[in-house]
Amino acid sequence: MINKNHLGFAVLLGLLGLLVNLAPIPLFGNQQLIIGNLFFVIVAIFLGPWYALLTSLLCATGLHLAWDSWHMYLLFPLEALWLGYARRKEFYTLYADITFWLLLGMPLFYLYANLVFQMPNSYMTFITLKQGINGMLYTAIGAICVTMLPNHLHIQGKLINQKRKSFNAQLTYTFTQVMTLVLLVSALIFNNNSIEQQQKDVKLNLEDSAAHLGKATESFIQGHISAIDNAARWLSLSNYDSAQWQSLLSKLHQSYPFFISMLIADDEALISAASPISRLDKDVVKNKDLSIRDRHYFQEAFYNQLTFISPAFLGRGFGSDPIVAISAPIYSRDNHVTPIGIIEGSLNLTKFASIDERNREYHEQAMVLTDENDLVIYASESLQLAPLTPLKVATSGQRYRTSLNMINFRKLDSLSPEFAYTKYVLKNGWSLYVVMPFEPLIKQVEQQYLTTFSLLFVAFIITILLIKVISYRLTQPLETIAKKFSQWGMTQHQDEVMSDTTPKEIYALSSSIQKSKQELISYQLELEEKVALRTVELEDANLKLQALAERDELTHLYNRRYVENHFANIHDMCKRSYAALAFCIIDIDHFKKINDTYGHQMGDKALVALAELMQQFFKRDTDIVSRYGGEEFLLVLPQCNALQVEQHLNQFREQVAAYQIEVPGRQAIGMTISIGAVISNAGYMSDIDHWFKMADLNLYEAKENGRNRVVCSLLSADDQFS
Ligand code: GH3
Ligand code: MG
Ligand code: MG
Repeated sequence: MINKNHLGFAVLLGLLGLLVNLAPIPLFGNQQLIIGNLFFVIVAIFLGPWYALLTSLLCATGLHLAWDSWHMYLLFPLEALWLGYARRKEFYTLYADITFWLLLGMPLFYLYANLVFQMPNSYMTFITLKQGINGMLYTAIGAICVTMLPNHLHIQGKLINQKRKSFNAQLTYTFTQVMTLVLLVSALIFNNNSIEQQQKDVKLNLEDSAAHLGKATESFIQGHISAIDNAARWLSLSNYDSAQWQSLLSKLHQSYPFFISMLIADDEALISAASPISRLDKDVVKNKDLSIRDRHYFQEAFYNQLTFISPAFLGRGFGSDPIVAISAPIYSRDNHVTPIGIIEGSLNLTKFASIDERNREYHEQAMVLTDENDLVIYASESLQLAPLTPLKVATSGQRYRTSLNMINFRKLDSLSPEFAYTKYVLKNGWSLYVVMPFEPLIKQVEQQYLTTFSLLFVAFIITILLIKVISYRLTQPLETIAKKFSQWGMTQHQDEVMSDTTPKEIYALSSSIQKSKQELISYQLELEEKVALRTVELEDANLKLQALAERDELTHLYNRRYVENHFANIHDMCKRSYAALAFCIIDIDHFKKINDTYGHQMGDKALVALAELMQQFFKRDTDIVSRYGGEEFLLVLPQCNALQVEQHLNQFREQVAAYQIEVPGRQAIGMTISIGAVISNAGYMSDIDHWFKMADLNLYEAKENGRNRVVCSLLSADDQFS
């Protein structure tokens, strides 16, 4: 069943994740931090795997829009399902996430990246590891968010077999969350800052080098321009004729060894002097082929009368080195308007290597010098750019977050940048690129990340161990207290239970528990004593009450109720043993007269006296002697000898008749009794009323027949009274 509220919650969080993921936080290079995924972590914790799957798809869409890659549609939904499922199984989310990235996430990403991205293998390891770290980070944030949310916002009811977790586990998990977050964030910030600083340093270095190399190059060129300029002026002002030019030029060349060659040409653009003369092709000179009229350096110096520095070009005549020519016009001493020739020096381009080399002693940098036509004049050997080839560059690395400028010389299409660079434009329009390979920079960053995260991992393990120890110290005394409290007694002194490291609060708790337990025990003892006392009193009272209920107050014989209650039992007992039972009513004759003559009190005395006589006479344990009411008594004699009962009763009647109750100052009281009795085996009716009626009939007969007699009838079981 889909719950509308839950669906709404999942979609809302998914949209939030989408928005946040549209702008991942850039780290160094093309590394970015994804934070929006924390929303599907929250949904996974609250609502389980299926809602989390929905949220994760939305979060992945945000990243897909930002990155144009598909791997997030593979990894994040899997992660969301995993987390949601783990939550249902009551695994801690962060632990589940670490497991996910180790077992599934990172291997899958590595495979995917190998298939889809074209990247060096070493870099692949790094970005794979980064995925896992990123995952842990947003999971920690998500889990902490959930912990921080007020309890009533927690959506319950989705958890299966929810178990009570130990304090130790809870404490460890909470610390793990916080540690993960704090360590990761601080490591990221720390790394980012140091990388930024490092980049700044690299950039400054490059700029410094560019300025320095640029200046050095400029002054190198400027020095040689001045040399040509001065030589031209010197030749113009002196009185040498052109025949002497050769020796003058040779001398001059010795002072400027960085000119690969020097020459002087006349107004016909024919070479009149050259140095080193040995390098000049003699045949070319003879054939007068060596016109330099087509050369820019001749035209600019001769016709435009400029001190000129040429773009790079291939030399001719003195070998075919790539050169840059510097030229200036020579005038005659008298005529400073029309030149009579030019002087030219060809700079040896390889000489820039000495500037480059000196720089490379201090920096891992390379340089490229191009002329105004972007032809390479000089390039460090490592760059493998031939002189005079046009320099093609592509700015790259727009997707890299770095303050450095990036450039590619070789793989112009590649998105990965080859070099960080600074460009310096010389005064003569030439450009100087100082470059530094980007790959080692990335490597260094990777190394730094790997080191930090390894350290972090170690810190993490140590922290967890530490928390285990601390939480054990906290919970162990609690457990002991609980155990001791549950046992009866707690005889141990609490110092035997608590250790020195037991926290103050727990020690206090133990003391107060122990105190209240002792109070409880003594209170309980007191209570038990009271109860025992009351029970004895109660039993006593009960006995009295029972006696009152069963006995007649005056004579202390059993009363009518007792007989009625016990008759059934007696009857049963006799019936089982086929025994006979006698049921007799004893009535005092003319008792009213005794009352009238001696007073009621004496009447009572007579009743008591008769009771005592009865008890003395009928003393078998099983005989029941009772006062039925007034001056009537009931006698139940179980297991009697049916043939002797009547005789026995008569003996008693006679004993009563002989008995005298002394009355001070008056005639003693005598009394007689009449007895109506029935004897039967117990098979006869069980109802006491029948027995009573039969006995009463006999009593009536006894009274009728003159009193002081016994009327007794033996009943058989067939004699049903109707
Ligand atoms: P009979 O020979 O026909 O039995 O004559 P009776 O006078 O004994 O019989 P009746 O039933 O006429 O009188 C019983 C008298 O017993 C009436 C009553 O005042 C007296 N009586 C009943 N209970 C008590 C008692 O507890 N104490 C005393 N003193 N007298 C009692
Ligand atoms: Mg009577
Ligand atoms: Mg009577």
